[in-house]
Amino acid sequence: MVENNFANREAELLRNIAQVRAHIAEAAERVGRSPQEITLVAVSKTKPLELVEIAYRLGITDFGENRVQEALLKIAAFHPQHMRWHMIGHVQSNKASKVAPAFDSVQSVDELHVAQALDRHATQRATRLSVLLEVNIAGEASKTGMMPAEVLVLARQVVALPHLEVQGLMTVAPQTQNPEEVRWVFRALRLLRERLREELPDVAWPHLSMGMTDDYRIAIEEGATIVRVGRAIFGERERMVKNL
Ligand SMILES: *Cc1c(COP(=O)(O)O)cnc(C)c1O
Repeated sequence: MVENNFANREAELLRNIAQVRAHIAEAAERVGRSPQEITLVAVSKTKPLELVEIAYRLGITDFGENRVQEALLKIAAFHPQHMRWHMIGHVQSNKASKVAPAFDSVQSVDELHVAQALDRHATQRATRLSVLLEVNIAGEASKTGMMPAEVLVLARQVVALPHLEVQGLMTVAPQTQNPEEVRWVFRALRLLRERLREELPDVAWPHLSMGMTDDYRIAIEEGATIVRVGRAIFGERERMVKNL
């Protein structure tokens, strides 16, 4: 019975992952990009560790979580050498001491004092902590992320922090019925990166983390190098979870 259930879940995950990878490849090819330059982060928030372990065995190397407590339990239980855990939810600076040593990357840096706290607590790491700057492109009041107009000033300050490695930008697009409506958001994030490349040329700015289950194909057409996909891989989440 238990074995059977496990086999079903594995078969379902295998199907879902294959489908997402195929869609990534198709979207990349539509705009002449190589699918190899796109990292798939499987967003495992609210899902049991068992599913993470299966997905890892099926070839997923990058996982995303948005809540510190939940993530720390999973990371402590499962963190093979070639696997990366990404923090994708808002980080409060009083959690930085836990986040900086545990995660391989923090995609959601949106305030200077959070970056400074992460930097202070990243000193014990063997390598600098990879971070992305989260930008609230559409200016939604309900969302975290820095405002586009403040990115340049904050970026200058964050890239100066010695224990962080700023790798690019991240955004969460507004929810819509038609993902074409948020194409401009992804394009705006890419243009913002162009601007940063001109203003801060010593940083490579390799990454644009944008696109989720409903809109990752469009994000890839607009240049995403990281897509964060939850439901299309692990299935729908329970309603009780907040912040989604
Ligand atoms: C939950 C979440 C995702 C994944 O969303 P899906 O719609 O399940 O693909 C991606 N990014 C962030 C920041 C999230 O909180």
